[in-house]
Amino acid sequence: MSADQPSNQGGLEPVRPETYTFHAIPSSADKNAKVAIHQIPTGELTAPAGILADVHGSKDDLTVPAYSYLIEKDGQAYLWDLGLMEVRSLLPLSRRIRDVMLTKLFKARTGPGPIKRLREGGYDTGKIKEVILSHQHFDHFGDLDTLAPGVKAVLGPGSLASIGPGYPEDPDGSWPKKWLDEKQLEELPPVAVGSSAPSIRGKWQQVACFEHALDYFGDGSLWLAINEGASHCRGHLNALARVTTDPDTYLVLAGDTAHHQSLYLPVPAPGEVDRRTRIPFFEMPNTNGSRISMHENPTEAYVAIGRLTRMSIEENIMVLLAHEGQVKGVIPDWPESLDNWKANGFKEKKENLHT
Ligand SMILES: [Zn+2]
Repeated sequence: MSADQPSNQGGLEPVRPETYTFHAIPSSADKNAKVAIHQIPTGELTAPAGILADVHGSKDDLTVPAYSYLIEKDGQAYLWDLGLMEVRSLLPLSRRIRDVMLTKLFKARTGPGPIKRLREGGYDTGKIKEVILSHQHFDHFGDLDTLAPGVKAVLGPGSLASIGPGYPEDPDGSWPKKWLDEKQLEELPPVAVGSSAPSIRGKWQQVACFEHALDYFGDGSLWLAINEGASHCRGHLNALARVTTDPDTYLVLAGDTAHHQSLYLPVPAPGEVDRRTRIPFFEMPNTNGSRISMHENPTEAYVAIGRLTRMSIEENIMVLLAHEGQVKGVIPDWPESLDNWKANGFKEKKENLHT
């Protein structure tokens, strides 16, 4: 999440789902290719009312989870986000991250990250091959410091430039410089205007409601798709994962495209009143009254959120946000798997919870 850049763009509206084209998800050479997905909690963030979401005008603080997801594929493991870091006292973090973001703006209650939780649960963490970060913010990079040598972190295009030189070279840096120097980082290729940029990950394609998605394993089981422009932040990724075949069902891991389910649900039917909540704007302490949002570009964020609304119409797609409190107690955590979400009615159960 970001509260870095002032955006005084009030009066914006959600984008209607009928605005979007749904591109058929390409059939793959291997009709049986799929991944297994498991949800792993990493802690919670508590924010004053009106920062993460404006839910029915509530004046109460809002506490939201921070989830990581284990993706299993052919005996290997991948992590989607690392959530909140467990021990921040040992890290060279800037004052802005340590004291402002983690303490003053959000009260972070952190627990073991996904790698430690998996290890303590008896999982062979040696199977973890890569970490995919939906984006570079502090509540998603978690215990990146503890990644085993050789485990790569993958980010969306433009992410590294937006991180900058890192702390302490940049006193306000969001990442420690030593990670940028020492960690194995892969940035997905840029999205060329009007063409597809070929890479080892294939070409960017139109998939579902995404304009640019990469076939991560080359078999149609996992697509990584970007939010266009800045939206929440530059390079923000979504994952579109096929978790069952025949019939095919999918999960969309949408990171911080939105921070509350009420921003993308309920789906408004054509001609009906839109009951989705608006992106909140709030006043940061000591900023002389200027109002900002959680998104670098709220206009583009509304477009990205509308994609989630449109994809939610599809009966075989379920969307999950990194901080979606409505899944807590409804969708089981690891070691349970989310693969049978449709048969278990998880989508309907979480959509019926709007607080
Ligand atoms: Zn976040």
